Amino acid sequence: MSKRPPRVLAQIADDIGWVRGSDAHHLIHVLRARPGDLVTVLDGGGGSWHGRIERIGAGEAAVRLLLREPTAAPRERVLCCGLIRPARWDWLVEKAVELEATRIVPLTTERSHRVPAALAEAKRARWEKLARAACKQSGRPDLPRIDAPRAVAELRSCELPPARLLLSAAAGAVLHEVAPGLRAGGIALAVGPEGGFTPLEEQQLLDLDFRPVRLGPRILRVETAALAALAALL
Ligand code: SAH
Repeated sequence: MSKRPPRVLAQIADDIGWVRGSDAHHLIHVLRARPGDLVTVLDGGGGSWHGRIERIGAGEAAVRLLLREPTAAPRERVLCCGLIRPARWDWLVEKAVELEATRIVPLTTERSHRVPAALAEAKRARWEKLARAACKQSGRPDLPRIDAPRAVAELRSCELPPARLLLSAAAGAVLHEVAPGLRAGGIALAVGPEGGFTPLEEQQLLDLDFRPVRLGPRILRVETAALAALAALL
């Protein structure tokens, strides 16, 4: 095993973390962990422990939790983004999680890529899996939340942080100028799909107190705009 303890997701029960399912498979068969090995245990909700593998059974491992790592509550970074084609969307989900998005709200808009309603839940589950893998690989202790796709008007019923930015190449304000004052608190970002938001959708966002900001002088692709904005807020 490598020197840095591997990170594993586990269900915590008293001072044991139970590693099960594909996480157990990875730990036992890919990383070839053995009893006595040290691991970092993540509970998926922000908790993180130093632990030592106590037992490895059929398809599960029991890890004794030795010491809890101090964790700060993550600042909310909610990315509300128009859906784009699947391969690019998947990539965006992975990278957004690396750049500390705490929640992703896929938007179905006039010009977004269509996800049939019957597939929405399966898609959401897939994105959650990608997010989980990205978390594990970058050592993020908290699992981001991925919502089911919704329309812009339905953001009204979402609990979003009060600081809200609408990314728009036509905005007067520049993100890099407002970002320093915003980094400390929670932020929601709205990014349009390929083709942008319609004027009606933009108005709906303005009505929800999203403030337009732009990133530099050029029109960016959806994923570039979303990731550049998240990076600027790190
Ligand atoms: N065809 C559209 C561009 C859409 S780009 C148009 O001409 O307006 C997709 C999304 O990326 C946009 O809705 C916006 O949210 C974001 N975006 C692209 N370039 C940007 C920039 N320079 N600044 C801020 N947001 C940008």
